[in-house]
Amino acid sequence: MTLSIRDLEEKLSDDPEKVSETMYACLFYGPGDIRYEKIPVPKINENEILVKVDTVLTGGTDLKTFKRGHPVLIKKIPSLFGHQFSGEIVMTGKNIKKFSCGQKVVSLNSAPCLECNFCKKKRFNLCENIEFLNGAYAEYVSIPERIVKYNTYIIPENIDLETASILESLAVVLHGYERSEITKDKTLCVIGTGSIGLLFIALAKLNKVKVISIGRNPYKLNISEKIGADFVLNIKDFPDEGELIKKINSLTNNYGPEVVIEAAGFPETWELAARIAGRGGLVNFFGGCKKGTKVELDTYKLHYDELKLIGVFHHTPEYVQKALGLLSDNYIRSVIKNIISKTLPLQELKRAFQMHESGEVIQIAVKPEEYR
Ligand SMILES: [Zn+2]
Repeated sequence: MTLSIRDLEEKLSDDPEKVSETMYACLFYGPGDIRYEKIPVPKINENEILVKVDTVLTGGTDLKTFKRGHPVLIKKIPSLFGHQFSGEIVMTGKNIKKFSCGQKVVSLNSAPCLECNFCKKKRFNLCENIEFLNGAYAEYVSIPERIVKYNTYIIPENIDLETASILESLAVVLHGYERSEITKDKTLCVIGTGSIGLLFIALAKLNKVKVISIGRNPYKLNISEKIGADFVLNIKDFPDEGELIKKINSLTNNYGPEVVIEAAGFPETWELAARIAGRGGLVNFFGGCKKGTKVELDTYKLHYDELKLIGVFHHTPEYVQKALGLLSDNYIRSVIKNIISKTLPLQELKRAFQMHESGEVIQIAVKPEEYR
């Protein structure tokens, strides 16, 4: 029997011998307790793919999981976790036609069902049956069927795997940006200088919008300035909030910023965001706060200044595709290099979280492959 190239490729892609039986992974055992262990490589079904992880980024959600677990993402103990990654396909299920082994890909952390009430209204990020991927702090990760189908992307050749690993954050920020009615004639004020805040600043500068960046970490504020924020204010220099608002007003012809993005995720900074916004302004409460927290808002200002308050969450496949296109932009790539400022091997994940939390780095590229 002669095999066509197609048959041969399919045979090879199904060949389990190409991937070892076991792998190293970091497992979550409880708050603050993660362990680097050898476990079986995940099995895939006919509609899934297996990806060898090149880079997995530390992020706010993972840090929160590390510190206190996660009600949705951690269902049992011990559990795999980690979701912002890039890698190479090493095995494909036999029904997979769209992808093949050897391709470099990014899979997003979720995919909508396209069938529920919200999906029918194209509000895919609010999907009632959203499927999550979790388990990228490992040498290999299996990609669930729906994420293979709707939210896995081949990385263009001009983009390295480390840069591509930030795609999810960029998609989320692009979603938040496009919902915030930002135009060139407005001033944007961004509260927070983590990767999300910095990516908001990057999109604004890409679109030639004036930006005021507010934070409290000198290292991160320095990066904010380096990537082009027009004004950088350290909140610690203004113990009296009135002085901070006065300063912001002086930078905006006394009108206050037309758009304020809260990208820190604390009730106090949500309240600050609403107090900073100018008349007729928009406030995007982008940073998610701890469940159960509440904020106090000035009803007079909200009503008579006609403030528009919005919450924006997550991403949709449409924004992911747009974000993938943005990765080809040289300026955006230089911003990403500033955000992913450190590399650590997977076995040092705990140290990576500690560094992430201390604020001495913004995001760390964790590499399962290094020093193995
Ligand atoms: Zn849905």
